Amino acid sequence: MAHQVGAVVLVDGAQAAAHLEIDVQALDADFYCISSHKMFGPTGTGILFGKKELLEQMPPYMGGGEMIKDVTFAKTTYNDLPYKFEAGTPNIADVVALREAVNFINELGKENIATQEDGLLKHVQDGLSSLAKVKLIGTSEQKVSVQSFVINGIHHFDIGQMLDARGIAVRTGHHCTQPLMERLGLEGTVRASFSVYNTKAEIDILVDSLGKLIRTFYGK
Ligand SMILES: *Cc1c(COP(=O)(O)O)cnc(C)c1O
Repeated sequence: MAHQVGAVVLVDGAQAAAHLEIDVQALDADFYCISSHKMFGPTGTGILFGKKELLEQMPPYMGGGEMIKDVTFAKTTYNDLPYKFEAGTPNIADVVALREAVNFINELGKENIATQEDGLLKHVQDGLSSLAKVKLIGTSEQKVSVQSFVINGIHHFDIGQMLDARGIAVRTGHHCTQPLMERLGLEGTVRASFSVYNTKAEIDILVDSLGKLIRTFYGK
């Protein structure tokens, strides 16, 4: 629909990169970006894909070494892609590490990662559903392996702190989606995220801990 009205489309694939097959051509994305630290790589690096003809139309946003081909007093010619946009000395070490992260994902195989994570998601959904006071938020058929939830009568921050004390890391709050929280009539949720290195045994500990919290809170 965006393309039909002539808009340029940038897809934010930060959450997809470690979990799903990405085919920028099949998506027909004009730009597609991913963040390295969401896919086992170092912080502060990432990848931006852009269609060549769009990148060629765009002026450089930063000046520095390597982004210029020729300079005279009359005229400046910028370097070819991608150097036009890579002014100055880049963060070489972290980009090498990002490459290793990509290799790690490719060695495991995205399909295997998805299968493993689907299993974890199903397991956590079953476990949380067995607790009467827990309400799952976000239960669509096709989702990556994150599960948000709320517990009737217990604030999400308190749940997060209690889990933290047991060495379980979850995120609490509005997850950068305040309008969605408002639409759902929630102040925030607890969100557990799973990756290839998580296990069903860990999920059992999460569910067990929540069960204990609920029993403590409601006195039975
Ligand atoms: C994490 C995230 C970002 C921000 O990426 P950073 O590299 O942490 O700045 C943007 N969009 C989505 C969907 C994310 O999950």
